[in-house]
Order: sequence, then C-alpha cells, then structure tokens
Amino acid sequence: MTLTPPITAELDAHRVPAAPAHGTLRPLGLDEVVITGGFWHRRQEVNGTATLDHIEQWLEREGWLANFDLAAAGTLDAGNRRGREFSDSEIYKYLEAVAWEIARRGGDAGLEVRYRRLVKRVAAAQEHDGYLNTRFGRASQEPRWSDLEWGHELYNLGHLFQAAVARGRTSGIDGDLLVEVARRAADLVCDVFGPDGDQRVCGHAEVESGLAELGRLLDEPAYLQQARRFVERRGHHVLQDIEWGRSYFQDEVPIRNAEGLHGHAVRANYLAAGAVDVAVEAQDASLLQALHEQWRHTIERRTYLTGGQGSHHQDEAFGEDWELPSDRAYSETCAGIASIYFTWRLLLAESGAQYGDLIERTLFNVVETSPAEDGRSFYYANTLHQRTPGDEADPDTISPRAHSSLRAPWFEVSCCPPNTARTFASLAAYVATATNRGIQLHQYATSTVDTRLAGGAEVALDVETEYPRRGEVTVRVRRSPTEPWALSLRIPGWARGATVTIRPLSGDTEQHEAQPGTFTAQRTFAEGDVVELTLPVQPRFTEPDRRIDAVRGCVAVECGPEVLALESVDLQDTDLRSSEFADLTVDTAAGFREDGGRVLVRLEDATAGTAAWVPLVRYHSWAERGPSRMRVWLPLATTR
Ligand SMILES: [Zn+2]
Repeated sequence: MTLTPPITAELDAHRVPAAPAHGTLRPLGLDEVVITGGFWHRRQEVNGTATLDHIEQWLEREGWLANFDLAAAGTLDAGNRRGREFSDSEIYKYLEAVAWEIARRGGDAGLEVRYRRLVKRVAAAQEHDGYLNTRFGRASQEPRWSDLEWGHELYNLGHLFQAAVARGRTSGIDGDLLVEVARRAADLVCDVFGPDGDQRVCGHAEVESGLAELGRLLDEPAYLQQARRFVERRGHHVLQDIEWGRSYFQDEVPIRNAEGLHGHAVRANYLAAGAVDVAVEAQDASLLQALHEQWRHTIERRTYLTGGQGSHHQDEAFGEDWELPSDRAYSETCAGIASIYFTWRLLLAESGAQYGDLIERTLFNVVETSPAEDGRSFYYANTLHQRTPGDEADPDTISPRAHSSLRAPWFEVSCCPPNTARTFASLAAYVATATNRGIQLHQYATSTVDTRLAGGAEVALDVETEYPRRGEVTVRVRRSPTEPWALSLRIPGWARGATVTIRPLSGDTEQHEAQPGTFTAQRTFAEGDVVELTLPVQPRFTEPDRRIDAVRGCVAVECGPEVLALESVDLQDTDLRSSEFADLTVDTAAGFREDGGRVLVRLEDATAGTAAWVPLVRYHSWAERGPSRMRVWLPLATTR
C-alpha cells in the first residue's frame, strides 16, 4: 500500500474535519461543497435550528455548563458538580457542531454571539497550566489522571481539540479563544504523557484523533507524535484489568495485531480513526494495512445490515464474528458515527467505493435513525427488532441511556445527540473529494461543488437529485478547465443495472452501463455538460449471511440505500390486525407493491390462515407514530 505525497499545499485552508497530509484523495470542505436541497438539506436545517437549541437547553438545564462557571469561580467541588465524568465532552461536541453550523450558513451573527459566550465560560474554567476538566483535581475531588480507566479526562480533551479544529478551520486560528484553550491543554497532555511521563492511555480513545488534527491545524508535530504514542502504547496492558477484560478499552492486544474491531464499539472506532491519522502521518504502511484488514473483517462479520455496530448491551461492545442478534442489537448511534469517521479516513488514504457504501448505509440507517423528524428526541441504541411496543419518553425527563424504547429528549449519558449534531452540520465534507486530475462524488445530495484541480484550474458542479426517493442524479458542469479531467461516481454495491448518460452541450450523447464500484468519465468537459447517473432505487429482498444464526431463515427489505422495517401499527387496517406479530411471515414470491412512495409486502399468518399486503417504513422513520412493535428481518414462510 503506497501513500502518495500531499496533493496540494493548501489542505489546511479548507473547512474539513479531517485533513491528512498524505493520501489518495483530498477532502473537500464546507467552503467547497454545500448541500443545497433534498433529504440531507432538510436534516441539516432541522439540526441547525431545533436540535442545536434543544441540546443547549439541556446542557444548561442539567448543570453541565454550570460546572464550568463553578470551576471558574473556584466553588466547584465533588458535592455540587452535576453530570457524569464525560459531561464536559458534550459541551465540546456541541461547540464543534455550532462552529460547523456557522460555517454552513456562511455566518450567523446570532449563533456567533451564543458560541462566543459559551467558549468564554469554558475558557474561564481552564487552569493556569492548561488543565481543563470539571470532574478531577479540586480539593474535594479525586486527583488529576488518577482514574484513566474510567475518568475520561483525555477523552474529553480529544473532543475539545476537535471543537477547536472545527473553529480554527472555519474562522481562522489567529487570536481564537477556543484554539488557544486547546493549544494550552494539548501542551499539558504532551508534557504529562510524553516519552518520559505517564506511560498510560485513556480508557476511552478519542484524544488520538483530536491531537492529530490539532497538530495538523497548528502545524505542531509534537501533537502528532503524542497521538502516535497513545496509539502505540495501548494494547500492552497499561490500564488496570476490569470485569469485562482489557479488550473493553482495546488494551488487550496492540492495534497492529488485532483481527477485527473488538471491545466497546465507540472506543474501538475512535481508536481506529486515530490510528489511521497516525499511520498516514508517519507513512506507516503496515499499520494502515492492518487497519484496512480490520475494517474489512469488521464490516463483513460484526456489522448489522444498518451499518450499526455493537451487539452487547452489557459493555456496549462488539460481539464475536456473526453474533448479530436483531433484538439485542445495541448499535449505539455514536458507534455508527465513529465508524463513519474511521471509514472516511480509510477512504481518503486509499480510496475505494466500499468505504463510501458503508458511510452511506450508516448515515441513512443509524445516524439518521437517532433523531426524530423534529430533531428534539433521539435514539441512543438502535435495535433492529422491538418485540413489545415501546414507552413514550417524557419530554421533560432525562432518560437512562439505552432503556428508552422510543426516542428520548436527553440521557444521563448523552453522547449521541451532540454527536449527531456535529456530524449533520459538517456532512457536506463527506460528499466529495478531489485529486489533481478529478472530482469524486461519494454521496448523492443536491449540492454545489466548487474547487480547483492541479495548477489551480477551477471546477464547479451542480448536483441535483431526489435521492434516496429516486435514483436519478444529475451532475451539471458549471465551470471546467479546457484540459480533460475525470469525474468519478460511486456506484453502490446494491446497484445492479445502473447507467450513466453523458450529455455534452455540443456533441453526441453517450450511454454507459455502470457496475458497482466506481464509474469514471474522463474527458474534456465544457460548461453546461451534463452527466446523469441512474441508480435502480427499487425494493429488493436481502438475504443475511448464513453464518448469522440469529436471522437465518429471514429476509430484509431494502430500497436503494435505505433499510425498511415492519411496524405493528401498519397492521391495524389489515386482516392481520389480530395476529401475533411473531407469527407473521413474508411471501417473497409475491414480490412488492408500491403505493404513494410506500413499499408493501405480502405477509401471512399461517396459524390463522390470513394474509395481507402491508406497507413497510423506512427504518430511520420507525417509531415516529408512537409505540409499535418493529422488525427489520422478516421470517420466511418456508422456515421449518
Ligand atoms: Zn452515544
């Protein structure tokens, strides 16, 4: 595996969450890609208004922001501090989301004022030597760094660094308060955990990627070296053993030697993302190869149809290979997000349609599933099978994290809501990339792309689509150099029979079949040329890998990139209304019916001798109509 040299010298100038110095593809930032309409634009609008307001209200209401005020006033102690040991990180993820959102809107004076006010409160709590944490180090609290297994001090700082990176890349580093706060904290981390310092790591990986990006932003190699130290140290039993074993925090085996992602699913993915950062920066091809293999293993054997990861509730961890029970799917929203961050870094390093495929699957079926349509309640865990109708969550009450069977407004452990917020606000950065000789579209959204190829040649594209409802994606060239260049389109793995039609403003129309993978149109484009991708967005039955015992004898229904699900509320108007949900089987031979954008399947109740056509819902929209039973995998009638 070769790592190519930097593609352009101006990487850091762009508004991207990850800016590797080496790689195959150059990420395009929020200054280069804007999502202007369609599915993801709607979500971004809700996120930028309702969700951000909602999160800030809960951060205030639960006293997690007030912890910083008390710390600044010198009155914070173990008795009056609110929230869990990682509550500081929710403020940082929120600040990151707001920084991206301000950039996405091209500036917003009101949001900017709110943002600065919050940053001031955070900065006031920082100690003289750069230490920043509301849970440790005061007279009545436990000492600093005294509980790396569970304390999350470095984890919290990792999110602080990423928040500062979002701000630095969107509004500049000079004189920025949050960037300065992050710099001082990072210097302290390097000091305390450097070559001659504390040789342990944080129980929850995250600081690795944060340090790597902050190092890239500030051109500070020491931060990248420290990130590398943390990655290399882990796996050598540097943390205390715990009841679930050191595998829980990936300290059982060095990451180079792991077979697949294991242990706590969020930790494993954040660590893997940081390890790609380190591998790429150090041009460590063997580490990158190991991560490539682990990704492949994990996606093949330890990932749900939705892209969700983690089948153990007890320790929020990956199960063994093929251990993917639907009704016990933990599939934490954050694990999906962390998996996207890991996958995106591999995509930039190596390119490959499989990475864009997984990101798409996870965005539509995990990340989008978490927030309600109105953006004010969330799933923490994302089950694939709800056996009993869930309970409505009280909109004014904090929920125990995974216990809510319907979306809840806020959680005691509320990592997921602000994590979705920062991901949606920065989503444009995951749509397209560039090389010296072309543009690659990885996700399909109505959007504009404006960037430069080698030699500064300007390229601009307008993308229009109703995806994922419809499969047509129209790419119109708005600006093009006079030399030939390449437009690459990801053809999803499920897309059999996709076509690409090239309609030059002058000249003949060309039509091509496009196989799953990547379709590249290499030619001299002119302003006004159109490239039309048609993906077969239609319902299909998906069979599980036969080695996944829990869903053997079942099929799922997918439509384009979306997983569909059966909800019991949809049985009410059918002859199956009095059937047991568990008795229903699907008749695949009957195929599908479609009605007003809804997909219907033929279900049977063999015990009662009844059958009916029943509409399915998009999995990400399930439970929007109140309590319901739900299942993604539908049993086949032929199961003996
Ligand atoms: Zn979470």
